[in-house]
Amino acid sequence: LSEASVAMNTGPCRTSDGQEIVLYGNVGLPADLDQVLSLGLAGVGLFRTEFLYLQSKQRPNAEAQRHLYAQMSQRLGDRPLVIRTFDLGGEKLPPFLLHDERLDPSSLNLRGLRFSLVEKQLLREQLTAIVQVAQEADVRILLPMVIGGHDFAQAIAMIEEVVVESNSLKRPQIGAMVETPAALFCLDEILELANFITIGTNDLTQYLLAADRELSAGNEHVTAMHPAVIRAIDEVVMAAKRWDCPVCVCGEEAGEVEFAMLLIGLGIRELSVSPARVGELREAIAKLDTSYARDLADQARACRSPQEVRELFTFPRLSEN
Ligand code: PEP
Ligand code: MG
Repeated sequence: LSEASVAMNTGPCRTSDGQEIVLYGNVGLPADLDQVLSLGLAGVGLFRTEFLYLQSKQRPNAEAQRHLYAQMSQRLGDRPLVIRTFDLGGEKLPPFLLHDERLDPSSLNLRGLRFSLVEKQLLREQLTAIVQVAQEADVRILLPMVIGGHDFAQAIAMIEEVVVESNSLKRPQIGAMVETPAALFCLDEILELANFITIGTNDLTQYLLAADRELSAGNEHVTAMHPAVIRAIDEVVMAAKRWDCPVCVCGEEAGEVEFAMLLIGLGIRELSVSPARVGELREAIAKLDTSYARDLADQARACRSPQEVRELFTFPRLSEN
């Protein structure tokens, strides 16, 4: 038996009223796949590929990337591997880019996809590796920090060029991360082009609340539980429904039980989480009724602070359930 078929036996994750919640794993390094497989997750919902090279003095090698992605997708069997293209720029600057005067580690000017569309060669080589592997496996491309239809379309055009140049037959599925306020205001133009979208609550929270994500740990005001973030996610879910586009949530808080309950109440059915969170999350989802979760989300949307949202979980009528 392959690793994938052994892990299959752990079965899907369902709410108490039988709704399937698809749980994927977030991975940063290939070794993180061990846990995704042993936990029987539905695949990898977020592979943060920049982690591979953050300490690297040499530019990524295209062949080495292809080999790595192929190995990972082979281990996953027929389960998806969602590869996020390098989310570089800002504080995420590997040594091989430090000499580049366009890039200032203290600057937000070039980040994520915007960075990649300037450093085109790096993106093109990565896309080539992904497209090659995607010919024989369920490998999907996820673009970070998309700010609208324009940058997203430029990336899609590059993927299409790579497909032609590499004599490939299949264009992999392409998704956009929704993690900037700009993306919230450009949802329709993004959804028109996307095969799937993935909400990143870490950056979405940081940029909606104007608070550094690294400094916000333990800050009760700066959290995805803020009603602004909850309302934003609600808008995204409704827009994705209009376009019949799959939507997953992959920020850290997707793995926290109470926040995951809210997400399910808002209509989210796919979560990509850190494998360490899966045990507790599965147990909580198995006890959760979706109409109760919907009620909770309706109330959370109308709250005025994260504290009010948290109180919903201690409110007797709700906690009895
Ligand atoms: C996010 O921003 O929520 C996300 C998942 O991406 P990262 O944490 O890698 O920025
Ligand atoms: Mg992010």
